[in-house]
Amino acid sequence: MNILADFRTHRPATLADAVAALDADGAVPLAAGTDLLPNLRRGLGQPEVLVDLGGIDGLGTISTLADGSLRIGAGATLEAVAEHALVRAGWPALSQAAEAVAGPTHRAAATLGGNLCQDTRCIFYNQSEWWRAGNGYCLKYRGDKCHVIVKNDRCYATYHGDVAPALMVLDARAELVGPTGRRSVAVAELFREDGAGHLALNRGELVAAVEVPPADGWTAAYAKARIRDAVDFPLAGVAVALRRDGDRIAGLRVAITGSNSAPLLVPTDELVGGGWDGAAAEALAQLVRKTSNVLKTTVTGVGYRRRVLLALAPRTVDALWQGS
Ligand SMILES: Cc1cc2nc3c(=O)[nH]c(=O)nc-3n(C[C@H](O)[C@H](O)[C@H](O)COP(=O)(O)OP(=O)(O)OC[C@H]3O[C@@H](n4cnc5c(N)ncnc54)[C@H](O)[C@@H]3O)c2cc1C
Repeated sequence: MNILADFRTHRPATLADAVAALDADGAVPLAAGTDLLPNLRRGLGQPEVLVDLGGIDGLGTISTLADGSLRIGAGATLEAVAEHALVRAGWPALSQAAEAVAGPTHRAAATLGGNLCQDTRCIFYNQSEWWRAGNGYCLKYRGDKCHVIVKNDRCYATYHGDVAPALMVLDARAELVGPTGRRSVAVAELFREDGAGHLALNRGELVAAVEVPPADGWTAAYAKARIRDAVDFPLAGVAVALRRDGDRIAGLRVAITGSNSAPLLVPTDELVGGGWDGAAAEALAQLVRKTSNVLKTTVTGVGYRRRVLLALAPRTVDALWQGS
């Protein structure tokens, strides 16, 4: 079997042309390819057309809007997002998350759109063709069985993107462009809990940009645990946005990554209005536990990943509380 099947590339100059090109059967968008191309080389997917977004003028622009919101084109590199003066000054959690991705050479090419839309990962999926064939493939691709858990209701591969949770707690929206026009969705609504279909994009739809509202009294941070301090996906990642009013929590948003098939917001309403103390920290850890679903999808043990996730959340709130 030819693992890397033949494909054609198309390099449109406008978003409209990209959307039109994506209408072809078997067409997929290509940004920097740091996620897509290694997967294709392993035989994970056989697109007939790669629609290269790299020639679209202005897709990487970072600017502020009249209401003070930040607008970042999907083609902006993670290096540009991490280092841009506007981002660092107004939305440092976003800078932290972009800077936490992989390593410097990787971030110089990888894009925001590709980061958000990256594939889910699993020890039964990110393997060579012969390994997967020898194990009967899996529910995510070419097989009919999920090896992670015995149930076959859906694929349990995990989403490990760093940037999405930061955008979610910053209340960001994604601007989507597709065959039926433009629409705007909360970044959280881009995702769903299904490892084989984790993006809620319609056929032919692209992420064109994200818009992040002004901080307006919120402080935020992103914390990531990984084996090595570079070039590693998050074993667990937690983004937190906090609004403090004296001794009270006036607002709290927490999002997690590396635990489920989608990055998820943790419901924290019950903590708003109270103080931040040991009991609140324990309550938050329990809320994270209830939201997360850490399974055997990485080589690192489930128990360790879960403990790290439960510890990262209150620790990150703590740091923001002390600093605010
Ligand atoms: C060694 C290694 C380490 C990594 N470490 C990390 C890490 O620590 N954290 C992390 O988050 N990621 C990590 N990644 C994954 C990936 O490289 C990054 O997420 C990167 O940001 C992907 O961006 P890209 O532009 O290269 O996307 P591509 O690979 O070009 O695309 C990724 C996916 O998104 C789709 N896509 C791209 N742009 C759009 C768009 N505008 N609209 C709709 N769909 C789109 C593509 O079709 C593809 O399915 C790592 C990858 C490798 C190989």
